[in-house]
Amino acid sequence: MNFNDAYEMTINGRGVAASATIDVVNPATGETFARAPDCSPQQLDEAVATARAAFKSWRNTPIEERQAMVRKAGEALAANAEALARLFTREQGRPVDAALTEVHGAAQWMQAVSQMSPPVHVSEDSDAQFIETRYVPLGVICAIAPWNFPVTLAMWKVAPALVAGNTMVLKPSPFTPLCTLKIGELFRDIFPPGVLNIISGGDQLGPQMTSHPGFAKISFTGSTATGKSVLASAAKDLKRVTLELGGNDAAIVMPDVDLDAVAQKIFFGAFYNTAQICVATKRLYVHEDVYDGLRDRLAAIAKAVKVGDGAEQGTVLGPIQNQRQYERVMNLLDDAKKSNLTLLQGADVPANGGYFIPVTIVDNPPEDSRVVQEEAFGPILPMLKFSDVDDVIDRANASDYGLAGAVWSKDTDKAVEIARRIETGTVWINQNLNLRPDTAFGGHKQSGFGVENGMEGLLEYMVPQAIYVARG
Ligand code: NAD
Repeated sequence: MNFNDAYEMTINGRGVAASATIDVVNPATGETFARAPDCSPQQLDEAVATARAAFKSWRNTPIEERQAMVRKAGEALAANAEALARLFTREQGRPVDAALTEVHGAAQWMQAVSQMSPPVHVSEDSDAQFIETRYVPLGVICAIAPWNFPVTLAMWKVAPALVAGNTMVLKPSPFTPLCTLKIGELFRDIFPPGVLNIISGGDQLGPQMTSHPGFAKISFTGSTATGKSVLASAAKDLKRVTLELGGNDAAIVMPDVDLDAVAQKIFFGAFYNTAQICVATKRLYVHEDVYDGLRDRLAAIAKAVKVGDGAEQGTVLGPIQNQRQYERVMNLLDDAKKSNLTLLQGADVPANGGYFIPVTIVDNPPEDSRVVQEEAFGPILPMLKFSDVDDVIDRANASDYGLAGAVWSKDTDKAVEIARRIETGTVWINQNLNLRPDTAFGGHKQSGFGVENGMEGLLEYMVPQAIYVARG
C-alpha cells in the first residue's frame, strides 16, 4: 500500500487543509515532490482550543484506557510501516531499510511506554493523618520535532504525554512534515477528537506555538540555538519545558581495543543517518598506539560504503536532509580545506542536484579547529590523537555540550571509571546509539534541559499533587 498524495493536518479529529502550503523537497534530487499545509494563526488557535477542550475529559479517562489507545497507535504504526518507510525515504533521505527500522522502533517504543504508570507516594498513613502524593497531567503540550529522526522523536513525545493524561499539538519540522501528517491520519480513529492535533507549517509556526498562551508545556527537540529561543519564549507565562538539544559527542578509543572488531561499530556510530544524529560520535579521540590502524580501517570502510538515493538498492548512506544543513556542512568542509587539514574522503557521491557530501575523516586536526569545536551534524568526523587518559577526559569535557559519549576498551572496569568522569547524560561502553524507553535520556550543560524516556521522562509531563487528610 502507498499513501495518497493529500497531506492534511489533524485538528479536532478531522483532516484539515490550509489556504497556503509549504514545499517538501526530496533531498536525493533537490526537487519538490509534495506540498504540506502551512497552518494559519487561526488554525493554530483552533488546534490549541480543541486540545484544551479535550483535556477536560482526557485527564479523567482511566489511565488503562489511555495506555490501551497508545498501544493501539503503536500497532497502527507497525501495520503501516512499509508505506511510512517509503514516504520517509522520499522526504528524509535515509535508505528504506533504515527508515523501516525507525518506524518499527517507534511502534515498539509506544508499546513500551503504554505499560508505564506514574507512582503514588504515601508519606504518612497514621491515626492522625494520611498524606499521599500523586502525579497529575499538565494540560496541552506544545511538541516540536526536528528532521533527523522525525517519527521516533515525535512519538517519544506523543506516547508519554498522552499516557500521562495531557493533550497535544504536535509540529514536525518543515523539512519532514509528511510522515507525521500521515501518522495523524492513522491515529484519527484511535484517540478522541482534540487529544492529538498535528499541524505543519513554515519557519513562522514554531515561534507562534511557543509564545501561545494556551500551552502548559513545551517539549522541544532541535538545535541548542533554537532551544534557547524556546526557553526565553516559555518564560513569559512560565510554561514547563523539556529541551533535547545538540551535542558534540566524544568517543575515546583505548589502546587495548581489537581494531577489527570495533572499526565498523565506531564508523556507524559516527556516520549512521549520514551523521545527522544528536548522539553520533562527533569527535573521535584515539590512543596514539592504535591511531593509524583505526584511521586506515575507517578510511577503507568509507571508500566501500555507497552514498546515494535512499530509494536505490544498496545505498547505505543517503543525502544531507535539507539544503540549509547541506550549506552549513559544506561551509565547515571548506573551512577545513582552507585550513589545510588532512581530509580522507570516502566513495564518490552523485552529482545530480541532491544534497550529497562524501564521508570525510579529518586526520588529527588541531583541537581548536572549527571541525572539532562545532557540531557538524553531517559526515565530517575529526579523529584526534591522545596519549594520556586524564588529558583526553579534559579534552572530551571541554565543550558547552554534554549529550552523550563512548569509551572503547577491553578493560570494561577501567572504561566505566572513565565514563563516570565524562560530563554527559549518556555514556556507552563498547557500543553506541543504544537508547531505551525505560531509561532516562537527556543532555548535561547546553545539550538539554530535563529528560525524555524512563519514569523521569513520563513525570516531566506531570506535576505532583499532595493531598493531606486529617483523621480522628
Ligand atoms: P532546529 O532547532 O532548526 O529545528 C527544530 C524544530 O524547531 C523544527 O520543527 C523547527 O521548525 C522548529 N523551530 C525553529 N525555530 C524555532 C523557534 N524560534 N521557536 C520554536 N520552534 C522553532 O533543529 P533541526 O536542524 O531540525 O535539528 C537538528 C538539531 O537537533 C541538531 O543540533 C541536533 O543535535 C539536535 N537534536 C537533538 C536531539 C536530542 O534528543 N537531544 C535529537 C535530535 C536532534
